[in-house]
Amino acid sequence: MFVDTHLHLHDPYFDSDKLDLVVDDITKNKIVTWVQSCDLPTYEVILERCAKSDYLFPSFGVLPWYAHTYVDQFDEITKLAKEAIMLGEIGLDEKYAKDEACIPHQLPLFEIYLREAEKNNKIMNCHFRGKERESFEIVKSYKAKKIIFHGYSGDITLMKDINDAGYYYSIGPRYGEEKLKLIPDDLLILEIDVLPRDEFRVPSVVFAEIVERVAKIKGTTPEEIEALNQKNALRLINNDPNLSKMIELLNQ
Ligand SMILES: [Zn+2]
Repeated sequence: MFVDTHLHLHDPYFDSDKLDLVVDDITKNKIVTWVQSCDLPTYEVILERCAKSDYLFPSFGVLPWYAHTYVDQFDEITKLAKEAIMLGEIGLDEKYAKDEACIPHQLPLFEIYLREAEKNNKIMNCHFRGKERESFEIVKSYKAKKIIFHGYSGDITLMKDINDAGYYYSIGPRYGEEKLKLIPDDLLILEIDVLPRDEFRVPSVVFAEIVERVAKIKGTTPEEIEALNQKNALRLINNDPNLSKMIELLNQ
């Protein structure tokens, strides 16, 4: 079974005219999909879109780039994080911040999510770019355990500490071979992230391409990578009362 642990179904990373096609493909091919949001409006959008299929599961996040615009709404974000079944896309990122004003507010925003994850053992789909070591240390100072490094961009030496902590790595279509080879089998999960725009392909096709490429790099079969991803995703969602429907689908 395909499990896509990170997909955007909202602007500007997704063309809305493809929505029906994509939802049909996901449903028909039974791809359990963790749909990310980037701020409050996109969370609204994906909640609506996730209602279109039993295979779509919404994740609530506000990207660090927008932290300064939400300072007055941290209480609202705390409330939404509590209601959400998964958390993401969230994190820390000074490297690609378009507006420096966000920088001092990134950590307080991220800590809202860390507290919620710690309290209710929720999955955190994390975007860290630059300062990966510092980001790792911050995460580790909390008891949240279901941490995903989305498209891990840090150096190789930090990977040992991430592995020891038991955090996960989600890997997309173009992830670098060198690091991919170093990711332990039991911490690897797969993601589409953004569907291709120029040469559009539906999720079932893109995901099969990822599985095939990862299998080749890891020196195994696509079937084994598919099973590994499913097993790791299941371990992440296990015992989560918010995700009972997903657990049922993955155990079928
Ligand atoms: Zn993303």
